[in-house]
Amino acid sequence: MYTTDVGTTWAGTHTFGARRLYLPGSLSEAAEIVGSLDRVRAVGTRHSFNDIADGETMISLVQLEPDVQLDEQARTVSVCSGTRYGVLASWLHDRGWALRNMGSLPHISIGGATATGTHGSGDTNGILSTAVAGVQLINAEGEVLDFDRSHPEFAGIVPSLGALGIITRLTVDIEPTYEVRQDVFRDLPWEAVIGELDTVMAAGYSVSIFTVWDEPTASRVLVKSRLDVDAEVPTELFGAPAMHHGDPELAALGANRTVQGGIPGPWLERLPHFRVDANPSNGDEIQSEYFVDRRHGAAAMDALRGLASEIAPHLIASEIRSTAADNLWLSMAYERPSLAIHFTWLNRPDALTNLLPRIEKVLAPFDARPHWGKTFVAQADLMKTLYPRLPDFQALRNRMDPTGKFSNDYLRRVIGS
Ligand SMILES: Cc1cc2nc3c(=O)[nH]c(=O)nc-3n(C[C@H](O)[C@H](O)[C@H](O)COP(=O)(O)OP(=O)(O)OC[C@H]3O[C@@H](n4cnc5c(N)ncnc54)[C@H](O)[C@@H]3O)c2cc1C
Repeated sequence: MYTTDVGTTWAGTHTFGARRLYLPGSLSEAAEIVGSLDRVRAVGTRHSFNDIADGETMISLVQLEPDVQLDEQARTVSVCSGTRYGVLASWLHDRGWALRNMGSLPHISIGGATATGTHGSGDTNGILSTAVAGVQLINAEGEVLDFDRSHPEFAGIVPSLGALGIITRLTVDIEPTYEVRQDVFRDLPWEAVIGELDTVMAAGYSVSIFTVWDEPTASRVLVKSRLDVDAEVPTELFGAPAMHHGDPELAALGANRTVQGGIPGPWLERLPHFRVDANPSNGDEIQSEYFVDRRHGAAAMDALRGLASEIAPHLIASEIRSTAADNLWLSMAYERPSLAIHFTWLNRPDALTNLLPRIEKVLAPFDARPHWGKTFVAQADLMKTLYPRLPDFQALRNRMDPTGKFSNDYLRRVIGS
């Protein structure tokens, strides 16, 4: 079954040019479709902001049953790739299990998030793909293949931009369920953001700094503390006071937020910023994000402050997060503990045409790696210098997909094949 009504990304930032979107009713039907097509791209829940998922034809596994399989002994769960994080999270929590971390929204598919290196925050937390223990995919011949961490090229297969095949199932590490509280600190002076960055980012299990760059303070710092891990929760951060539950300013942030103000709750209702039953973020927006080596985080932010008057008029908010280093070839945090500098922009693509090159120039001395699923201007020549394992990934891709069945304009532009 297919539709010719292919539509747009979630935010409407890209209208897909594909002629057909296939919606198989089973994995065997998916394999048959993939085997029969010359060109096909997977699409998940469409929460990327660029043309990464587009192609001549697309296939979606989002409507398939999650078919969750729990292995308590191995501490893993296996699930259909089109399943949304929120669905898996609630299934796990009901059985006493948890994921280590989540992104800002639980609405995204696990397959799509894994493909682009989606991440949350936390000095000790890798991007979400670091929890992936196994990948099942349909290859260019329409065969179903399984890979796990014992495969020598597994690190190249996990975030793979949809370029190696259509991922059907993912096996993910789990741990016993736990509780988290979110505390919000108001108006952290910029001197502390820059001068005490490491202490601020270490204030909890997962920390996010929110700023619009042109004010003397970062307006909010969101500290997520794990009740079973974090010894104590700060009551203030370098003079920035905590906002309490019931504070009208907290409520004014939006009813789509998960509970803040220090009220403990299950991990799946605190680690994402947005409630699973509400529309996340703003919707009419564009997002960009750049990862810099943690050592250069403060200097990179200081450099961006120099562009504050150009950035602020087009910005809804920036969020600064941290991630642990990993060994995944296409990870934005490959071999670098990282500071992720994110921008949620007003929906003004024309303004970004001028502004993003300026931002990327300012961040160039810090070898800033763009988030694959967001809006950026860097192209293949530069990306090869930023992602040192890109040549290895291309060699793997050429072996697994010699005819370019899973290639598209985005991949040709951004990785050069
Ligand atoms: C409101 C909002 C908040 C966000 N917050 C965060 C955040 O906190 N952290 C973060 O890192 N990102 C964030 N993002 C970006 C988002 O997480 C990523 O773009 C992610 O890829 C979206 O998953 P998706 O299922 O929508 O993927 P899609 O956008 O549908 O697809 C993305 C890529 O995944 C590939 N893909 C999808 N399914 C498969 C499959 N089955 N097999 C092979 N390849 C596949 C596609 O081919 C494409 O290359 C946010 C986006 C939005 C809209």
